Amino acid sequence: MNDCLICAKHRGEGPLVGEVVASLDGIRVSHAPSGDDGTAPLGSLFIETDRHVAYVADLTADEAAAVGRVRTVLARGLREACDTEFTFATVVQQGWSPR
Ligand SMILES: [Zn+2]
Repeated sequence: MNDCLICAKHRGEGPLVGEVVASLDGIRVSHAPSGDDGTAPLGSLFIETDRHVAYVADLTADEAAAVGRVRTVLARGLREACDTEFTFATVVQQGWSPR
């Protein structure tokens, strides 16, 4: 067991736990954690591999493809359901995930 915050989150532990929106093909999508008012920020979703991966460069080809597919499906869903004009995607990986 490691002290990775994302792995802890996947076990339902720690400060990053948010509602799981979907889980398929080794990929998990969840809302950002709830704030002090008990609600999660709208439109803030995390796409993570079930497998511990400290760096994007360590993703397998299948994991990288799955992350991309899920990101695009989510963006399309947000556009269709909420008429969003933009979906922004960023990678967060530095400083809190041991190898
Ligand atoms: Zn981890």
